[in-house]
Amino acid sequence: MAGMVTAVYPGSFDVLTYGHLDLIRRAAALFDHLIVAVAQNDRKKPLFSLEERLEHLRAVTADLPNVSIDSFEGLTVDYLARSGATVIVRGLRFVSDFEFELQMAMMNRSMAPAIETIFLAPSSDYSFLSSSLVREVASRGKDVSAYVPPEVHLALQRKLGLQ
Ligand code: ADP
Repeated sequence: MAGMVTAVYPGSFDVLTYGHLDLIRRAAALFDHLIVAVAQNDRKKPLFSLEERLEHLRAVTADLPNVSIDSFEGLTVDYLARSGATVIVRGLRFVSDFEFELQMAMMNRSMAPAIETIFLAPSSDYSFLSSSLVREVASRGKDVSAYVPPEVHLALQRKLGLQ
């Protein structure tokens, strides 16, 4: 449809946190259509399989009609071209995120000048959350239910043999 803007929020989502969900909700309110796309990267050994991560994303976005869930291999800009999207959404938590995120945005612009990268800040309640910290803390047996949606918490307990 003319004038419709589709954005893609790419990421590993291994584990999906309330920080991710906060960004998904903010982006869904800004764009006509938001695709949350799991980037398959075999070099990162994921805790959750691709199918599990897709399942978690589908569960937490079921109430958001303009959000769809997908996955892709290869470059994000190639995925955007295939899906008719023109905006990449990424999150900025700390200044330390900025260097890498800006570099990636510049590289993507160099390859695909028509695509814009938009950075969103999460609610300050979630700005300290990262998947890797949550994985680390959960693997030491700590309760992470304040950091991840209930579906993910349950899956995490099962995965780590805590339940
Ligand atoms: P990647 O491997 O692509 O960095 P992640 O799932 O770790 O995948 O992160 C995907 C995107 O979500 C990144 O832009 C990251 O900055 C953002 N993000 C992750 N956690 C948070 C959070 N707590 N608040 C805001 N943005 C976040």
